[in-house]
Amino acid sequence: MPSPMRKKFAASSKADGIDLAFDARHIWHPYAALGHTRPIYPVKSALGAHITLQDGRELIDGMASWWCAIHGYRHPAIMAAMQRQLELLPHVMFGGLTHAPAVDLSKALLALLPEPLDAVFYSDSGSVAVEVAMKMALQHAAVRGQPTRRRIAAFRGGYHGDTTGAMSLCDPVNGMHSLFADSILMQPFMARPKAKFGRPLEPAELFEMREFLQTHRDSIAGVIVEPVVQGAGGMWFYAPELLVVLREICDELDILLIFDEIATGFGRTGRAFAMEHAGVVPDIVCLGKALTGGNLSMAVTVARRAVAETLSREGPGVFMHGPTYMGNPLACAAASASLALFAEGHWQAQVANLERWLTQGLAPARELPGVADVRVLGAIGVIELTYPVDMTRAPELFVARGVWVRPFNRLIYVMPPYILSEAQARSLTEAMCAVAEILGRPQSPGAS
Ligand code: PLP
Repeated sequence: MPSPMRKKFAASSKADGIDLAFDARHIWHPYAALGHTRPIYPVKSALGAHITLQDGRELIDGMASWWCAIHGYRHPAIMAAMQRQLELLPHVMFGGLTHAPAVDLSKALLALLPEPLDAVFYSDSGSVAVEVAMKMALQHAAVRGQPTRRRIAAFRGGYHGDTTGAMSLCDPVNGMHSLFADSILMQPFMARPKAKFGRPLEPAELFEMREFLQTHRDSIAGVIVEPVVQGAGGMWFYAPELLVVLREICDELDILLIFDEIATGFGRTGRAFAMEHAGVVPDIVCLGKALTGGNLSMAVTVARRAVAETLSREGPGVFMHGPTYMGNPLACAAASASLALFAEGHWQAQVANLERWLTQGLAPARELPGVADVRVLGAIGVIELTYPVDMTRAPELFVARGVWVRPFNRLIYVMPPYILSEAQARSLTEAMCAVAEILGRPQSPGAS
């Protein structure tokens, strides 16, 4: 039956600004209810390290748009590359066709990654890159005659995405497992890495990890971890040496090791990839977020040649996945331009400076009531509180101080664009300390 004609909605005009009432009624935002139950800010534009709100206020960006915009917004080299590509070929299907943007980007990516990582699979988001890695590992086990290996092990405290496969690998307590119980795969979870970055490993921790994997070896096709930094699961920085032992165990037990570098890739931890802190190369790596410099949604799963050859030779002889927008040329062009900037190497000094400025600027927070820990690694600065951040108050407190910081759970953190100046970094850390201090004050009875 034809649906009745809908009334037409008027487009936002310059004079009206953004139709917030429409937004509230009809548009979902991430991890939110319909209806703007928490503050939301209309954005007009962004440039460099600044976000400009519709009302003209400028905010220094502490989030790099969920950790993606490493070179800042509207970098001229990336804009020009996208404009050139737009004129030629914004998109074409990748099945049976190929194009220079995908080939050029793959060359640039492989030049950055360690040698055995060699076969590139493009997708549209980090979660899908993780799904692809899971499927590679599962198909790899299946075609090698290991039919019982149908699970992927992960650390507790991790985050790997929101699609159902990726979600099954997220922390089973802090993740959303309880809402989807019986609908997502039950995965085996190793203990959360205990030893802090820079501290020695306890033999007991290694023993436990080895025992766990030995016990589950016949049901596990792969192990997936966020190397060194567990991001959205808690901004936890752990000892890279754990990964050396994990690599050894995976080799002994013939289990594929998958690194999810979607958050850590492209310099965020002070190394091009977090795996470099450990000197360990996985069998499969997932990259996303900063891949296009924060300009278009694109992710990639890169496998060792041996894994790719097994998938291309055994069983059906093809890898069974193929997203509609796979290898989108416009996204490839943005990513190639972003990688060319990255290859110039300025990020190393920028991230080293940020590490110093964040360390200095966040130090006073250690003395504040309600602060459990302050930690910095590369371009990541974290104040961990002893209580959950009040997300109805915090955004306004930050915006009033001219910065964009979006806390979650008990964490006030920043992962800014690498191009931040010292003064901009200071504005961020001063605002973080001030907001931690305000949120930690005992609330007078009845105060909201
Ligand atoms: N893996 C990690 C480590 C992430 O931090 C994220 C996103 O925060 C994802 C996967 C999922 O990426 P996306 O949001 O692009 O699907």
